[in-house]
Amino acid sequence: MGTSLTLFKVFGIEVRVHWSFILILIYGAFSATGGQINPILGALYGILVILLLFVCVTLHEFGHALVAKYYNVNVPSITLLPIGGVASLERMPDKPLEEFLIAIAGPLVNFALAVLLLPLAFLAYNFSPQSSVAPLSISNLFAMTQTPSLVGLLVNLTVTNIGLALFNLLPAFPMDGGRILRALLAMGMSYVQATRIAVLVGRLMAVLFAVWGILNASNGGILMLLIAFFIYVGGGSEREAVESRAVLKNILVSQALTPSAQRLYTSELVSRAVDLIMSSYQTDYPVMDLGGTFVGVLTRARLIYALHTNGADARIVDVMIPAAEVPTCSPRDNLSSVWEKMAETGSRDVAIKEGGNFLGLITIDDINEVFQVIGAAMTKSVPSNKGPQLPSNNTPETTGV
Ligand SMILES: [Zn+2]
Repeated sequence: MGTSLTLFKVFGIEVRVHWSFILILIYGAFSATGGQINPILGALYGILVILLLFVCVTLHEFGHALVAKYYNVNVPSITLLPIGGVASLERMPDKPLEEFLIAIAGPLVNFALAVLLLPLAFLAYNFSPQSSVAPLSISNLFAMTQTPSLVGLLVNLTVTNIGLALFNLLPAFPMDGGRILRALLAMGMSYVQATRIAVLVGRLMAVLFAVWGILNASNGGILMLLIAFFIYVGGGSEREAVESRAVLKNILVSQALTPSAQRLYTSELVSRAVDLIMSSYQTDYPVMDLGGTFVGVLTRARLIYALHTNGADARIVDVMIPAAEVPTCSPRDNLSSVWEKMAETGSRDVAIKEGGNFLGLITIDDINEVFQVIGAAMTKSVPSNKGPQLPSNNTPETTGV
């Protein structure tokens, strides 16, 4: 999402809009010009309809985001794309009931908006010139959506909100309905099993969406194809993440620590680290002070940077990552918690401490090694390794339009 513009920030959540959003506004302007007496007025009306529609999408995302925040899940941003909104949740809660409530909150916002908008549409109709000519009826209300009018706008938004809610409730994981399905399944089986079933159902839905999209290519089908693609790919990568986490949950930090790992001392020079790195496979070194207290980490990337800027005679204490920036876990935690700490902080390393004593580092390379060795054996269907990488730190949540 490199190219998005921040609109505003509320409840600590940045609301951003992706550049491609402009395409949907142009589409809105063009689609509303046909058959209008005044094409300019029609185009402006089309843009207004799209903008208000995305106000509803944003409120839908805030439904998810605020319930997530209630359960202490951080939500840094909401991004608006032509296919809908994405609320970036830093993690999904472990409890199925919490995921269920986060997922259902979005569609419930749209149902609530529809309930508020419909009486306003009736009220606006009573004050409109039409009310003296034609009695209030559903067909007369719908007739007014064809031309720019307040009544037409309100009816349009009511119908769209109901449509948004129903569409999002389809069991197409990782869309809301799919998350609801996963959460319900997870109440009676393992999280991994529930995710596998939800992803399978979601992929079947994606195929149906794609077929519909191809058959209706001239009538908004392209958006449906994009949504189908998102569901197919997004579901698969979430299943992998859940399976990986399940593998890591079975391994204790104490089992993964390397007792023989080399350490550096604050008084030493960078040249000492160069010697060590040339003679071993170890890439990340804990740095201790003379009293034996853990004070920082020197990674290979930091070392290379230090050699470029400070030279080999720099002191390690001046170039290391300070301990305050390195997250901490206990040896009794499992590797899944370590992985989560890495995702939350963006750190390659987690310091393992017990009762204030430093025991060692777990690095992202250690985690990837576990995936290679154990992951490949446990989940044969999953491609074993994609090289060292930090886990993705957001769980995108999407609303189709
Ligand atoms: Zn949603």
